[in-house]
Amino acid sequence: MMRLPPFAYLAPTTIESAVAAKAQAPPDAMYVAGGTDLYPNMKRRHQEPGTLIALHAIDELKAIDRRADGGLTIGAGATLTDVRRDPRVRGEYPALAEACRLISTPILQNMGTLGGNLLLDTRCNYYDQNYDWRKAIDFCMKKDGTTCWVAPSSPRCWAVQSADSVPLLVAMGAEVDLRGVEGERRIPVGALYRDDGILYLAKQRDELLTRVHLPAPDGWRAAYRKLRRRGSFDFPVLGVGAWARFAADGVVEDARVVLGGVGSAPELVAGAAEALIGGRLDDDAVAAAATAAWKAGRPLDNTDFTISWRKEMIRPMVARALGDLRKEHQ
Ligand SMILES: Cc1cc2nc3c(=O)[nH]c(=O)nc-3n(C[C@H](O)[C@H](O)[C@H](O)COP(=O)(O)OP(=O)(O)OC[C@H]3O[C@@H](n4cnc5c(N)ncnc54)[C@H](O)[C@@H]3O)c2cc1C
Ligand code: SF4
Repeated sequence: MMRLPPFAYLAPTTIESAVAAKAQAPPDAMYVAGGTDLYPNMKRRHQEPGTLIALHAIDELKAIDRRADGGLTIGAGATLTDVRRDPRVRGEYPALAEACRLISTPILQNMGTLGGNLLLDTRCNYYDQNYDWRKAIDFCMKKDGTTCWVAPSSPRCWAVQSADSVPLLVAMGAEVDLRGVEGERRIPVGALYRDDGILYLAKQRDELLTRVHLPAPDGWRAAYRKLRRRGSFDFPVLGVGAWARFAADGVVEDARVVLGGVGSAPELVAGAAEALIGGRLDDDAVAAAATAAWKAGRPLDNTDFTISWRKEMIRPMVARALGDLRKEHQ
């Protein structure tokens, strides 16, 4: 049986006290929300924080509120179940409800939070193993070792961004609030990520993710499609977030296609947007956008399935996500 290492446990009840506790704690301290990613990782000794600052007792992190501009603000501590069952999310942001529904299992969704999903550790076949397995291969660069077993001559880690909500929220143009001891800042979700399997987040280590802001549901549609081995539960080996804003006559005014599960950061496909903007979302435009995504996506051999099949699946999965937008718009 894998056991948790010992750690001190703090449970602040306000955002301010959580941020203050993090600033005063030793550098290896970590926030924990639902713990559905962090606790298994600690059991495998991927992360070994001596102090955990739990977020579950902070009610203000769980709120889902209407914004003055008609959008929605979701607290980072709202559970995936809270998000996917919220009537405003279901009615106005059905793609987000669907992405949350596709994460892990209903029981884990009761614990796992939207904030924890956005900050999920990157994944790799050589890393998502227990300590003894990793020790047997002399570990790897992401934790305790020096070599990347996926690309042994590579100076960097290629572990994969694998959170289902990420490609969708990036495509939707959602924003997040980050709170540090010196105040709060707001950035696009897309600016949260770095293309590095180890240092995969652009936020400061002490910053607390407090809220996710969704734009008003005004003239645009979004969709999320997930490729995985088991329909019951599995991490994505490809996630497609698609978003388009339509004029009254159905012409695409703006569009974004974002791939998850192919690199260390979500990948915005510029060529797909170019293929879509200015015309109708017809078969030719969808095929051109899907081909642009297929060209851009370069999966590596570090998750489930072969890289050639994962690459081939980009085209139909993007076409399906864009097809969802078309259905929504009819
Ligand atoms: C069997 C299994 C299957 C899974 N399947 C999927 C899947 O299909 N798709 C998927 O996307 N995920 C999956 N997950 C991962 C996980 O359940 C979800 O990503 C979940 O949303 C993580 O949220 P959490 O609150 O539990 O995060 P935690 O484990 O609490 O935290 C995750 C990380 O975020 C940090 N963190 C959390 N909240 C904050 C905050 N507010 N501010 C700053 N830092 C914070 C923590 O320090 C930690 O580094 C799976 C997990 C398991 C065990
Ligand atoms: S990509 Fe390389 S360094 Fe990163 S987790 Fe995998 S094997 Fe380790």
